Amino acid sequence: MKIQEADAKRLLLAQGLPVPEWEVARSVAEARSAAARLLTRTDSVVVKAQVLVGGRGKAGGVKLAASADEAAAVAGQILGMSIKGSIVSKVLVAPAAEIVKEYYLSAVLDRAGRRILLMGSAEGGVEIEQVAAERPEAIVTIHADPELGLEDWQARTLAFRMGLGNQLKAAVSVAKGLVATMRANDADLVEINPLAIVRERGADGADVERLVCLDAKITLDDSALYRHPELEAFRDPDEEDPADAQARAAGINFIHLDGTIGCMVNGAGLAMTTMDLVKRAGGEPANFLDIGGGAKADKVAAAMDLILVDPKVRAILVNIFGGITRGDEVAHGLIEARAQQTRDVPMVVRIVGTNAAEAAELLQAARFETAASLDEAAAKAVAAARAAGAA
Ligand code: GDP
Ligand code: MN
Repeated sequence: MKIQEADAKRLLLAQGLPVPEWEVARSVAEARSAAARLLTRTDSVVVKAQVLVGGRGKAGGVKLAASADEAAAVAGQILGMSIKGSIVSKVLVAPAAEIVKEYYLSAVLDRAGRRILLMGSAEGGVEIEQVAAERPEAIVTIHADPELGLEDWQARTLAFRMGLGNQLKAAVSVAKGLVATMRANDADLVEINPLAIVRERGADGADVERLVCLDAKITLDDSALYRHPELEAFRDPDEEDPADAQARAAGINFIHLDGTIGCMVNGAGLAMTTMDLVKRAGGEPANFLDIGGGAKADKVAAAMDLILVDPKVRAILVNIFGGITRGDEVAHGLIEARAQQTRDVPMVVRIVGTNAAEAAELLQAARFETAASLDEAAAKAVAAARAAGAA
């Protein structure tokens, strides 16, 4: 699960990382008053689109403002704009930093290495993928030990090699803080780009340089979310695909794909096999969908809704291996779903295992197209999709 910059910054703050203060505004008026409050302590503010995609700066989603009026004006431009398909519904307002130099620092889960991997670079601010492609030597990497975490000497090595020797203490604490953030929240990724040296006016009026996290991106491990119920609050309803939310609510494992054949299957392995056979028969699956074990009629109906929401779906392939799941329950669900369905899409059903005979009887009475083998079912579904105009 990706979370917004403002929420990522909260998790960084909780681990003691240096993050400039901010407010989140959902309207021009809120942005204006947030800016007015911050401008009592700073000369200018930065207004940043809160969307779950990167490259906001380049897209015009990050703008500076020197007055509350100007902040309101730029918030007006940013709110409602579309960045890589995401509509901006809120902005972050923060004191504008005077940037001396931008760095890149991230912690990712290195699955192959079975360790947290830190990646740092003196070439921050820009897209790190570009640095990695063009000048891989400009990226410093170091693994944290699963038992010992990131040790001080490792963090110092990283800091020196990133060219942060003049901010050694701060850099060490940021690097260790990223690992702590990863571990505390079961994150897959914690990325600070830019990590920046900024110039600030000290209490005595003299300039001081400080290392701060100006941007933050965190991805949480979905499979570990149950260990952190408090993080559910960071799921952003503004950005979640309605189909994903519906699937989650129904307890259905659903991944939307680009093809034309909707698949309803029980079991993840069988669902993948079904997708393979659809492809082998010359079709493209529209989704991965696992209704899980022991699904009852209402779950089958919910799955059918999910499939039919996608306008690209031209045919539906139902493949059920009855174990705990009873074939007749699924058949009832299908009959009920078809009675309510608003769009007429051809369907091919294969049900084997527990109560398959009862299922076959029900489906036959309701004039469903059935198939005995999975190959036959896939071939029929692909043919039906073609007949219905799928490419
Ligand atoms: P991203 O483009 O989505 O990664 O958004 P960032 O938060 O990283 O902002 C993009 C760029 O805007 C940064 O690399 C900075 O160069 C600039 N920027 C962001 N915040 C500030 C700020 O407070 N002051 C100044 N001067 N520039 C900023
Ligand atoms: Mn950034």
